[in-house]
Amino acid sequence: MSFDCAIIGAGPAGCAAALYLSRAGRTAVLLDRATFPRRKTCGEGIMPEGVEVLRELDLYAEAAALGRTFRGVAWTTRDGRHASCRFPAGEGLAAPREELDHLLLRRAAAAPGVRVFEGRAARGVERTAEGVRVSLDAGELSARRLIAADGASSPSLRALGVPRRAPARPRFGLAARLKGVGTGDLVEVFLIDGGELYLTPLPGEGRVAAALLLERRALAPAPGVREETFWRLARAHPALRERLRRATLDTPVAGLGPLAAAPSRCEDGPWLAAGDAAGAVDPLVGDGIGLALRTGRLAAEEIDAALRGEGRHGRYTRRRRELLRPKRRLARCVLALSRRPLLARAVLAALRAYPPAFSALLAG
Ligand SMILES: Cc1cc2nc3c(=O)[nH]c(=O)nc-3n(C[C@H](O)[C@H](O)[C@H](O)COP(=O)(O)OP(=O)(O)OC[C@H]3O[C@@H](n4cnc5c(N)ncnc54)[C@H](O)[C@@H]3O)c2cc1C
Repeated sequence: MSFDCAIIGAGPAGCAAALYLSRAGRTAVLLDRATFPRRKTCGEGIMPEGVEVLRELDLYAEAAALGRTFRGVAWTTRDGRHASCRFPAGEGLAAPREELDHLLLRRAAAAPGVRVFEGRAARGVERTAEGVRVSLDAGELSARRLIAADGASSPSLRALGVPRRAPARPRFGLAARLKGVGTGDLVEVFLIDGGELYLTPLPGEGRVAAALLLERRALAPAPGVREETFWRLARAHPALRERLRRATLDTPVAGLGPLAAAPSRCEDGPWLAAGDAAGAVDPLVGDGIGLALRTGRLAAEEIDAALRGEGRHGRYTRRRRELLRPKRRLARCVLALSRRPLLARAVLAALRAYPPAFSALLAG
């Protein structure tokens, strides 16, 4: 079997790439080792720029029916200082990942020129004279180009011999859905010792997505006992002790890390990497899904240009860097605040006093 493009990984990045390639009249094969619907460790909120891509793909109405909108972000420091901000434009959307990703996959499977194989892991990738050969658990397929969209650990980039590096102070994520937690229409962020807790309102009375982003030291002394660690850290914040008293788990606690690992390069010859495979921004900016959709779109544009003979090596890397720059800047600022409680207090007080600064920060 031969295609214009093989896409490994059918998360938001892979599905967006397949849908945009189809719009460009290309053939693509989209592979995922999982059978959908599958779970994904995530805080489940899509920021307004990601929501725009769903609109562009005519997916918004169906995605919105699965989820709940939110209008901004609120921050609370360890000593209870509080500041909140509404998005300057648009609104966010929170939806259970297994449902959202399944919707994207079904749309990709229905798109002209796209073949989808679920439950088929890519076992190896080789460059050939014509492009790439992907070996599967049974059989193989070839394509003129490849998009690696296989998530934060990207086995396909490993198979291509591309090294991956975690940040110097690695962070780890724990996520679960909770019931019995009152919320409004904001994502709430609570600074805790060694990280942050995010609560994102989901459809269903008192249902939220909860994500903890933590430094390694915060996971000690029980790194293996996820559920215990999750409740110990979440309830350690004074503002949450009472609020989470009656909360229960709606899903098991899932873990992932180290976060924000990045490959040494995200394009070379016939392949490009998109989404987390190309290097994630720390999830504290809450925009991994949006960036996966947007880099999936960018990868499809560059592959289409390359197949027309108009590709230029390095252009995807530059365009992707531009796209990520404001998010990386925001991640650096927020991480600095999360690690310095006194500074966080002062900055939150300033943002409260001057809300437009908060909006500008959120808008990147
Ligand atoms: C704790 C935590 C909280 C987060 N919270 C948020 C949030 O609130 N909002 C937000 O926008 N982002 C959040 N993120 C980030 C977000 O989840 C990711 O950025 C996003 O899922 C990236 O999408 P992707 O398509 O690149 O990869 P993924 O969604 O990871 O998809 C990759 C796919 O590749 C498949 N795959 C892997 N290996 C193979 C193989 N060998 N062969 C075939 N298929 C393969 C996998 O099965 C998977 O389906 C969070 C992340 C963490 C860890």
